[in-house]
Amino acid sequence: MSQYRKIIAAVDLSEDSAQVVRRAQAIADNNGGCDLHVIHVIEPLSFAYGGDIPMDFSGIQDEIHQQATAQLTRFGENHAVPPDHQHIVLGKPEVEIHAMAEEIGADLIVVGSHGRYGLALLMGSTANGVLHGASCDVLAVRV
Ligand code: AMP
Repeated sequence: MSQYRKIIAAVDLSEDSAQVVRRAQAIADNNGGCDLHVIHVIEPLSFAYGGDIPMDFSGIQDEIHQQATAQLTRFGENHAVPPDHQHIVLGKPEVEIHAMAEEIGADLIVVGSHGRYGLALLMGSTANGVLHGASCDVLAVRV
């Protein structure tokens, strides 16, 4: 079986994220200490309003970006992920996770997965979205 050379862990910066990155780290260690990257995607506030925003949210959006960047920096420090392996982007999580995986040439994406059922299952999840259309392996860690 071929080894993974570059792994990217997608983190929503919730409590579950430590579990996701630890799993990714264990796989990296088992693959000769291969490269581990993390990505956090910020969803633009305009998405929630279907693009038709009645007011200017740019100040709030900047604030969210700054806070998320600070959180990701701390997260990277706590989990020994160097700054140049931390990525923060604006957009739709599954789209941006795919794009970053391609950009850095990742051969494994690690995401968290909540065991969903009922309506939530019908509506889908980020893990599902990442799995569909990924051009490399995807590991869904049960969180
Ligand atoms: P969800 O489907 O939103 O419950 O999220 C499941 C998993 O998808 C999380 O544990 C993360 O691995 C990933 N994920 C969700 N939202 C984001 C985000 N904004 N940025 C990066 N990864 C995310």
